[in-house]
Amino acid sequence: MPVDAPPTLFSWPDRLRHSAIILLVAGLALAVVVTSGELSPTLAAAVFACIAGAALIPWRLHNAATSNEDLRAINSPAESEAVNAIIAGMPDAAVLLDRAGRVIHLNGAATQLAPALRKNELAQFALRSPEIIGALREAIATAEPRRATYLDPVPVDRWMELIITPVSVPTLFGGIEKCMLMTFHDQTPLRRVEEMRADFVANASHELRTPLAALSGFIDTLQGPAKEDAQARERFLAIMQAQAKRMARLIDDLLSLSRVELSAHVRPDTLLDILPIIRQVADGLEPLARERQVTIDLDLPQAPVVIAGDREELLRLIENLIENALKYGASGGKVIVSLAVAASADGAPEVRLTVRDFGPGIAPEHLPRLTERFYRVDVGDSRAQGGTGLGLSLVKHIVNRHRGRLLIESVPKQGAAFTACFPLAEPPPAA
Ligand code: ADP
Repeated sequence: MPVDAPPTLFSWPDRLRHSAIILLVAGLALAVVVTSGELSPTLAAAVFACIAGAALIPWRLHNAATSNEDLRAINSPAESEAVNAIIAGMPDAAVLLDRAGRVIHLNGAATQLAPALRKNELAQFALRSPEIIGALREAIATAEPRRATYLDPVPVDRWMELIITPVSVPTLFGGIEKCMLMTFHDQTPLRRVEEMRADFVANASHELRTPLAALSGFIDTLQGPAKEDAQARERFLAIMQAQAKRMARLIDDLLSLSRVELSAHVRPDTLLDILPIIRQVADGLEPLARERQVTIDLDLPQAPVVIAGDREELLRLIENLIENALKYGASGGKVIVSLAVAASADGAPEVRLTVRDFGPGIAPEHLPRLTERFYRVDVGDSRAQGGTGLGLSLVKHIVNRHRGRLLIESVPKQGAAFTACFPLAEPPPAA
């Protein structure tokens, strides 16, 4: 689609200067020849007229945009070394276009982003989007910057903000060529964060609205049809209590998650022995284990195991892992909590805390997504267990803040093992 009037060879002041130089040089040369007596003044005047015609007539007769030679001429002024160097050195994809939208110069990032963009070819043929073509046309017509979105679908969706800025580029003859500088700015990370934020708000409100709807439904029933029914009242109050607990837990988890996120960049530095924390959590979960008829086996070393950590966060992490094992792996009848010190991939010693159950396990396709917020293998099952879908996300954030890593292994029908690895703290220097 054509964008604007065809490009001209040079701007008018350029042309005048160009012709003036030719005429001046020709005039001087002829004057020298006439003075030396080699040529009669009449003949010299005729020669000068021919040269003047040759210098001026092509402007009118020739459509500069159509021949490749002229295209090269259009390109030459803007292709000065300085312009080339600036375009090539720009960190984002950048393309310099002439007033028709023809590519004068482009950098490596632009070639990688849109391989269809080629020198001397119209950019609008390469970037076929109507939005981009419209923006380019407007930028040329108004000489004002315009923005458009460029979507790069391969290999994964990438959103680019494309900014078209009119720029004045000096030409070889001291004139000015109006060009368009087109730059691409990657907006994908921002867009993803925005999508995550929107998903998060939608999920959190949905999770809160469900128990709230149940509560208000039971309140209506208790005020109306079940007003005088003492038995129904007891039953409904118990359900309402469970729903209220679920809301409280969800809010707790959300707050914990945002607290850990806020301090993600600060590594905890309190040296603490992790063994008493594990024992404290296991003792606290004993009633749940009894209720689910599961035994919790602790396989812990005798000597203290010291890491740099945040006690409250470690309590939360261990509680989430053991509680999940009791909730989802209860059919295995046993949960083993073990702790070992081993060498990490880079050879540094790390503490590995593993919570293993022998329940139904988790299908491999779910494993990579388990630590996403609100991700659950079976939403109904999780809700029935009082889950919020935030537990493993919180675990992952806590592990990250402690500069550790979380490993999840599972063989369906044989159980699951969650291992939190933490760097072993340096022993304090001897007194
Ligand atoms: P929830 O609050 O639902 O328990 P989590 O983030 O702690 O949320 O866990 C996410 C999902 O991972 C759970 O809903 C469950 O489907 C699955 N899951 C977690 N731990 C286990 C386990 N030990 N065995 C089987 N599935 C598990």
